[in-house]
Amino acid sequence: MRKRIVAGNWKMNTTPAQGYELANEVSELSKSTPNNVELIIAPPLTHVALIAQSLAGSRIKVSGQNCAAWEKGAYTGEVSAEMIASTGASHVIIGHSERREYFKEDSETLLKKVNIAMSNGLMPIFCCGEKLNERDANEHFKVVEQQIADVLFKLSANEMKNVIIAYEPVWAIGTGRTASPEQAQEMHEFIRQLIEKKFGNEIAQSTSILYGGSCKPDNAKEIFSKTDVDGGLIGGASLSAKDFIAIAKSFPK
Ligand code: PEP
Repeated sequence: MRKRIVAGNWKMNTTPAQGYELANEVSELSKSTPNNVELIIAPPLTHVALIAQSLAGSRIKVSGQNCAAWEKGAYTGEVSAEMIASTGASHVIIGHSERREYFKEDSETLLKKVNIAMSNGLMPIFCCGEKLNERDANEHFKVVEQQIADVLFKLSANEMKNVIIAYEPVWAIGTGRTASPEQAQEMHEFIRQLIEKKFGNEIAQSTSILYGGSCKPDNAKEIFSKTDVDGGLIGGASLSAKDFIAIAKSFPK
């Protein structure tokens, strides 16, 4: 059985004090969610250490939103995977569409980041997804296949066992417009088939593939009911502990 996961990407929101409070509220409310759902939060890097310490021993895992593509050195403003891992964080988001778009991160950089994350013991949450013009041109499968082939296909089978995939159609992120459950299922199934062709059935069946893009308490149930949707990467709604936990309770029994 693959893991059900709900991960919250706080992006560049909250001060350390607000983040600390939100994290503890999530932890408190998480007591009412089924144990078979893994909960991850990705606060801004300035408060990852504080929150990871505060949540140590709880069921909530902590993630970075990004890491540097280098081990260490003269890279002003960057934060390394080793630094993130040393805070107690266990995951890191790599290749979010906002990083691809605003920071021009390409597949070559993302592969370096995935490798560095893993060699420092962080589990990558690797994001992929097409833009609106690519879907309109019916190129969404091709685009996602390329994003996956350029990075994940360069990993060994053993490494692939430690990757979470997030499918996030760019046109659905922060727009209030979600993919329909059918569109999500169709792409998740396609991604799983790609993983199967490259790494075999066992790895394909055990890889968690999360949906991201305006996922909210009122649409999560329908999306999570789909066979190949193993949870969600949640942006806006993860800034409310109540909404985040309501989403985590949206899996079929
Ligand atoms: C995200 O940024 O990963 C995301 C899915 O954002 P939102 O839920 O706000 O669309």
